[in-house]
Amino acid sequence: MIYLDNAATTPVKSQVVDVIIEVLRNNYGNPSSIYEYGFESHRLLESSRTTIANFINANPEEIIFTSGACESNTTIVKGMSFNNPIITTPIEHISTLKALEDIGYDYEDNIVKVDQSGLIDLQDLEYKLEKNKLRDDFVPVFMCVLGNNEIGTVQDICKIQEIVHKHGAYMAVDATQYIPYYPIDVKKMHIDMLSFSGQKLGAPKGIGVLYVRDGIKIKSLICGSQNNGRRGGTENVAYCVGLAKAIELINYNKTSEIKKLRDYCLDELNQLSKNMNLKFVLNGDREKRLANNINIQMPYLDSQQLVALLDLNNICVSASSACQSYEKKPSHVLKAIKLSDMECNSSIRVTLGENTTKEEIDEFVKQIKIILEQFI
Ligand code: PMP
Repeated sequence: MIYLDNAATTPVKSQVVDVIIEVLRNNYGNPSSIYEYGFESHRLLESSRTTIANFINANPEEIIFTSGACESNTTIVKGMSFNNPIITTPIEHISTLKALEDIGYDYEDNIVKVDQSGLIDLQDLEYKLEKNKLRDDFVPVFMCVLGNNEIGTVQDICKIQEIVHKHGAYMAVDATQYIPYYPIDVKKMHIDMLSFSGQKLGAPKGIGVLYVRDGIKIKSLICGSQNNGRRGGTENVAYCVGLAKAIELINYNKTSEIKKLRDYCLDELNQLSKNMNLKFVLNGDREKRLANNINIQMPYLDSQQLVALLDLNNICVSASSACQSYEKKPSHVLKAIKLSDMECNSSIRVTLGENTTKEEIDEFVKQIKIILEQFI
C-alpha cells in the first residue's frame, strides 16, 4: 500500500505501540488513587505531561490532555466564549466552526478574510479586533489554524500574534498539522492557547493536547477533577505515555527531506500536465505551505472517482479533509479561497509522511498518468 494521506492520520510508531502495551499490561491503576499502584500511574502521567510541556516550552500545569484536537478546539470556543468574543477565519478546522455554530454564536461578522492562497488578511484582522473591543473586561480571542489541514497554507504567526496582542486579545492556535513538521515554542511565539492531536504525529487516535497559558480562565467542556479541574475523566495513561513517546521521536531534520520529495512530486505532476497538455492548478500558497502537503486541481477528473481509482491500485489520497469525506458538500476551505464547485470537485489532497519514498511517488504519478489517459 502507498499511503499518501498523512494529514488524515499517521501510522502509529512501533516504539509508541510498545510503551502503550507495556502500560496497559502493567499500570492499570487509576492515577488519582492514593496508594502505590495509583501513584505509579500518576508518575507516568505527570512525566508525560512534562515531556509534552518541555517540547512546546510550556509549564506542565498548562498542559491539558484531551481526546484530540477536535475537543481542544471545541474547549477553546466553548470555554472562552462565555465572556470573550471569538474571532476566526473561514478556513478553520470544522471542529472550530461547528463549535461556534453550536453555541449559536453570530460569528459571521467575526470571520477574518483570507486571500486566494488562504493567507489571513492582516488589515481585516486589525479591523475585526478593533470592532470587538467593546468593553474593558472583554478579551477577544483570535483563533486560527497555523498550517491548514486541506490546502497546507502556513500563516505568518509572528505578524498575526503581534497584531492580536497589540489589541489586547488572546492568540489561540490550532497547530495539529504544523507541529509534526515544525517546532513550536509557545513563549517565543506568544501563543496563549494551542491545540494538537497525537494521531498526526505517530501516536494513536483519541489523544490530544490543549495548552492554556497560566492565568487564562477557561471553562471545561467535561466536568471532573482531573487536569486541575479543567478536563474531567480518568486519564488514558497509556495513550498519554504513547503521545509523550511519539513526541520524543519527532525529528524535525526530516522535514526538509519530506519537502524535497514533495517538491519532486510537484515537479513530476507538472511535467505530466505539460506532456499531456493539461493544466493542473496547485491550491494554496506555493511557498508558505506545510512541507508534506499537495492540494491540486486536476480538471476533467472527479476527485471522489480519482480517489476510488487510486484505491484500486492501493494508493491512499484524499478528496478533501478525511473528517468531511462523507459530507457531499464542496470543502468549505476550497470555497473560502474562491474555487468554483467544479474546481473543488476536481481537487485532491496528497500528504506525504516520514516513511514516503521516491519509488512510491513515482508509482503515484504513473497511476495518475494511466487514469488520465483512460478518462481524457
Ligand atoms: N485540527 C486540524 C487542523 C486537523 O487537521 C484535525 C484532524 N483532521 C483536527 C483539528 C482534529 O483532530 P482529531 O480528529 O484528532 O480530534
